[in-house]
Amino acid sequence: MENLVMETPEQTVLERLEQGTAPPREGELPPTHTFEVKNMSIWYGEKRAIDNVTIDIATNAVTAIIGPSGCGKSTFLRALNRMHELTPRTRLEGTVLLSGKDLYSSNIDPAIVRRRVGMVFQKSNPFPTMTIGENVVIGLRLNGVRDRKFLNERLEKSLRMAALWDEVKDDLHKPGTSLSGGQQQRLCIARTLAVEPEVILMDEPCSALDPIATAKIEELIYELKAKYTIVTVTHNMQQAGRISDYTAFFYLGRLIEFGPTTKIFTNPSDRQTEDYITGRFG
Ligand code: ADP
Ligand code: MG
Repeated sequence: MENLVMETPEQTVLERLEQGTAPPREGELPPTHTFEVKNMSIWYGEKRAIDNVTIDIATNAVTAIIGPSGCGKSTFLRALNRMHELTPRTRLEGTVLLSGKDLYSSNIDPAIVRRRVGMVFQKSNPFPTMTIGENVVIGLRLNGVRDRKFLNERLEKSLRMAALWDEVKDDLHKPGTSLSGGQQQRLCIARTLAVEPEVILMDEPCSALDPIATAKIEELIYELKAKYTIVTVTHNMQQAGRISDYTAFFYLGRLIEFGPTTKIFTNPSDRQTEDYITGRFG
């Protein structure tokens, strides 16, 4: 009888985190939605920045968040790994499930959430006093990893995945800040990948980059979605069209429209979405 009992596939990422075990195993079907956000509202003091947002974020897909400046894109993104809590006087209502588990439940450690749900920022931010190599493995070191062989393997793997290895493999001891802007951004992506997250959040990752560096990051995002769920904020409508599977249009803290990117860009249901994507405001 015993061998009829299957290993439970329902064990969620967060349950594994609590047990200190790994992300989904190979051959295991991932859940359809990595995040299920229900009735999310967020305040900074008295000011409401996110207003009753309900959205499901698909697994192993790229979801783009678009909308005019100040509409709540960064706030929404940061709430997906509890980073907004680092800002004083924030308050969140509603629920955020990560692989079915409440991200805001009192028994979840926000530091672990931030490791599993990595974030890449608009301005690449390598640590100025660290070498290229140190910048990649800093997250592991801070988590107490000392094994040199392990660190070196993870270093190479992360840089390869970030499509940077060939460009820096002979310069690992040079400062991270010696790289070009686009390379620095890929270095930051490698740093995020090094701790093996399940999700990568990106907040306008290309807005400070030239077109060639931007194309490299876009290509990388496309490749990474085979392994990761990616949510990216972008100001650039063409970019959203090129890289994303789903697009969410935010306006004044509300989710106005959400759907497959092709639908949002060719046949939006909402007048405000249409006005925005055709450049009538924003
Ligand atoms: P976006 O990324 O779309 O430009 P944000 O999420 O940064 O928008 O901001 C949404 C709203 O919240 C804006 O009105 C902004 O002024 C406000 N806001 C953002 N950060 C803070 C903060 N730290 N304190 C107070 N208000 C903030
Ligand atoms: Mg922003």
